[in-house]
Amino acid sequence: MTKHIFVTGGVVSSLGKGLTSASIGMLLESRGLRVKMQKLDPYINVDPGTMSPFQHGEVYVLDDGSETDLDLGHYERFTSTRLTRDSNYTTGQIYLSVINKERRGEFLGKTVQVIPHITNEIKEVVKKLADDETDIVITEIGGTVGDIESLPFLEAIRQIPLDVGRENCMFIHLTLVPYLKAAGELKTKPTQHSVGILRQIGIQPDVLVCRTERALDVDDREKIALFCNVPLESVIEERDKDFSIYEVPLSLQSNRIDEIILRRFGLTAPAANLDPWHEILHRLRNPEHEVSIAVVGKYADHRDAYKSIYEALDHGGIHRRTQVRVQPINSEDIEEEGAERLLAGFDALLVPGGFGERGVEGKVKAIRFARERGLPFLGICLGMQCAVIDFARHVAGLEGAHSTEFDRSSVHPVICLLEEQKDVTDKGGTMRLGAQPATLQADSRSAEAYGTCEVSERHRHRYEFNNNYRGQLEAAGLKIAGTSPDGSLVEIVELPDHPWFVAVQFHPEFKSKPTAAHPLFAGLVRAAVARHAGSAWVAET
Ligand code: GLN
Repeated sequence: MTKHIFVTGGVVSSLGKGLTSASIGMLLESRGLRVKMQKLDPYINVDPGTMSPFQHGEVYVLDDGSETDLDLGHYERFTSTRLTRDSNYTTGQIYLSVINKERRGEFLGKTVQVIPHITNEIKEVVKKLADDETDIVITEIGGTVGDIESLPFLEAIRQIPLDVGRENCMFIHLTLVPYLKAAGELKTKPTQHSVGILRQIGIQPDVLVCRTERALDVDDREKIALFCNVPLESVIEERDKDFSIYEVPLSLQSNRIDEIILRRFGLTAPAANLDPWHEILHRLRNPEHEVSIAVVGKYADHRDAYKSIYEALDHGGIHRRTQVRVQPINSEDIEEEGAERLLAGFDALLVPGGFGERGVEGKVKAIRFARERGLPFLGICLGMQCAVIDFARHVAGLEGAHSTEFDRSSVHPVICLLEEQKDVTDKGGTMRLGAQPATLQADSRSAEAYGTCEVSERHRHRYEFNNNYRGQLEAAGLKIAGTSPDGSLVEIVELPDHPWFVAVQFHPEFKSKPTAAHPLFAGLVRAAVARHAGSAWVAET
């Protein structure tokens, strides 16, 4: 019988529920259990695809093309669980499905209500993941206990033990134990209150994971255990990790969370082999090289907007035993102050994906600088499109070259709308999305990095390289290093006459893991290390 773990959060948002859930998933997998993961988000958007990164951080894309919450990125980086459309549901999606059923007449004669219709729909999407191939389903509930929006989700998970047996369900509640400087002590009251709200709903947590900046002493833990009605050993400290998020699973394991879960479910499993994770931390703590990489985008001040990119750069660093210092730079600042001034001293440049015209000229300027100075460069999606614009304008002599996303009447539309997008009017879930195969040129940098010519990568775009300019740009020296297997869509461009200039239409960052860095990120870091070491490169004139 598949077991269910529900992860809720209390007191404040941004406690790291996603990381904690992913870490628990990783620990259970490392003990040989087959785990599935899922996130339920209380907001009304059907998916985060139409939200600004300011609102929601990055949109994480899965192989099947679903646009999901960034916590799913943690799940994929920490575990080997296969995520699909069923791994992320929102209130909007749940209601949409119930309302569609109502219109089809599936509830004929009935008043459709939050309880039981909405809650039944939620229970179904959770139970759907429980199958013969799954030992444990971990379901994370977004938001904070006490929010109006999350109530139907909490009510639904309260009911699941009645259907599948309380012994097959476990509730893990993540809470904050703040340190009050004036009082000189940790305060447990917010935790008591948030568990109080859960218990009013009818959920008694089995484990409390307490985020704290200072160590909990026995008195604190005893107090929390008593007031929240959980065994002392199930009050688990999760101290702030200043060094790396990859410490989280190890710290949870040292607090025996995997043991507590197995015991609660009456499962036995071999001891965890966490050597790969110890190795990650060893490499992070003992780097042999150091590089600084500039990430030039629109959301420099917002860490979550490029979450997977920053993570993938770290992975490249882990792989190359290199400390990667990442510096986000606002592309609009480059427009004002110039690439020369803002990019001097960096060992590589990355330009990520994006939408909308703001900051685009800054990205083009940054890429021009990298191209002319032999600065290793990785362009992703809009970053690739900007690389083509720079090359067209400044190397191929196509003055005024642009993407029709930004200039519909450009004289040289080197980037244009995908054919399949021409009749698309709805904005939600309608881009070219998800895993698509690509074929690489054997003599390209990318093929060398991947070690193969056939790859599959995740996409999220409406615009593409305009094939009408292919001949002209190739003649000017741009290498079409990868295309869709039928050759119709350009997926990768490179500059052979440059230490490392690779720009891709897809999002490699979604497939990078700390234990298996994405080849293009490892490649960028390797080139950055070479640059840092001062290997000379002089542009041919
Ligand atoms: N805005 C561009 C497009 O739609 C790039 C998208 C992206 O960078 N994800 O094609």
